[in-house]
Amino acid sequence: MTDDRDASEASTPTWVDSHCHLPVDVADADVIVDRARGAGVEWMVCVGTDLPTSLAAVALAHHRDDVFATVGLHPHDAVHLADQWPDLRALATDSRVVAIGEAGLDHHYEHSPALDQAEAFRAHIGLAHELDRALVIHTREAWEETFTILDAEGVPRRTIFHCFTGGPDEAGECVARGAYLSFSGIVTFKNAADVRAAAVAAPPDRVLVETDSPFLAPVPYRGQTNEPAWVVEVGFAVAAVRDQPVEHVARITTEAADLLFRAK
Ligand SMILES: [Zn+2]
Repeated sequence: MTDDRDASEASTPTWVDSHCHLPVDVADADVIVDRARGAGVEWMVCVGTDLPTSLAAVALAHHRDDVFATVGLHPHDAVHLADQWPDLRALATDSRVVAIGEAGLDHHYEHSPALDQAEAFRAHIGLAHELDRALVIHTREAWEETFTILDAEGVPRRTIFHCFTGGPDEAGECVARGAYLSFSGIVTFKNAADVRAAAVAAPPDRVLVETDSPFLAPVPYRGQTNEPAWVVEVGFAVAAVRDQPVEHVARITTEAADLLFRAK
């Protein structure tokens, strides 16, 4: 045995899925999480997008020690802020909750009005500060406004841009604010050269991998129902574009996830 780094990188790589959505039914979720464990995924973060899915994420995180929960309102559901926020706020204090969100701005779909999205985003940023939890950001076609709101409210010390879809410029803007970039199966898509360039440019201590399952299955599973087991494919793709050993990328992404979600 030589030093720690050699020892850990000599063994089979293990992974963390920093962002997934698991079934509300615990038995269904168990099957999927067990399959991920079998593929080398050590733990995962189950992300809430409204009150029912946040409640389910917290329940699952109490049922399994390899699942952690987030609590939040997706920008699509921002219109529910007034009726769901009091319960979400209370739920967010649960010991198994490691982050607030996903929250942010989605001007691609705009399922909720832009003003409601901005108000909900500000509320999530405030709660992340208040509880000193990580903040999980969803942003789509809204980079400028996302940065403007973040800068005005103050960037929480643990902030993640989930399913990062920008290029090197946006990656630089995020990193300058101390944020982390979580790469999804999009890095394996043919038309995603910009995202791959961002994955190359990202500093080694700012990179995470995620599935965003059940969405965005990576190549070679595109079109199928995604699941956390396939974060391994994302990790391999990130390693390939960064021209680094898979074991190294597994280690740096796991260390970043530990720091973001499990460090006090
Ligand atoms: Zn998501």
